[in-house]
Amino acid sequence: CGIVAYVGHRDACPIVLKGLKRLEYRGYDSAGIALMNGGLNVYKKKGKVAELEAFIADQDVHGHIGMGHTRWATHGEPNDVNAHPHYSTSGSIAIIHNGIIENYAALKTLLISKGHTFQSETDSEVFINLIEDIRTNSHCSLAEAVRLALHEVVGAYAIVVLSKEDPNQLVAARKGSPLVVGVGEGEFFLASDATPIIEYTSDVVYVNDYEIVVIKDGEMEIRTKEDVKQTPYIQRLEM
Ligand code: GLU
Repeated sequence: CGIVAYVGHRDACPIVLKGLKRLEYRGYDSAGIALMNGGLNVYKKKGKVAELEAFIADQDVHGHIGMGHTRWATHGEPNDVNAHPHYSTSGSIAIIHNGIIENYAALKTLLISKGHTFQSETDSEVFINLIEDIRTNSHCSLAEAVRLALHEVVGAYAIVVLSKEDPNQLVAARKGSPLVVGVGEGEFFLASDATPIIEYTSDVVYVNDYEIVVIKDGEMEIRTKEDVKQTPYIQRLEM
């Protein structure tokens, strides 16, 4: 029900956890985080953000890129496995997703026939396997695979995707669920609304439906799902 992501010079985990707490008012049943810390690692728990915090307290969770999620279950009961982030079958990419993929059942059947395997009952795990399937078959970039996947999914989403192969990159997209980018000095934030961002920067970009945001090596690029490059409209929030 809430998403937060960070890439920049700071430690991502505390920023993401604090951001998730700021989004707690939206309501949720589970929380999770993915970090690039010597691999693409996922930590997730049913329950409150505080329980996730306790779970990771004695682990090495340092890293400069990460994403977190609070889940309001729509497909699959609230439990540790159904909590986000979700890996693709190969484990090389992971997703956080807010919203509902309406045609997930048909996509899941197709993906299973192509050899994908599923751990959870969520529609979100179908989304990340679809992206992986497209990336493998089209030999394209992650951003391009996300763009092509948007043509296949029906429903509402705000997503963020992390890839082991591109450890300095965040790819995000939305349709129907809100997504805001915070633009800092050599750092970027992504969130469901501006509340997790405002203490770090007042410069934000509200992502439009069917836009894909790629943040890589300190640069942001926004394209439509028709692959038209957009000029980001940076708004200054009143503090
Ligand atoms: N449909 C997804 C799920 O059930 C995401 C729910 C949400 O927006 O938190 O896991």
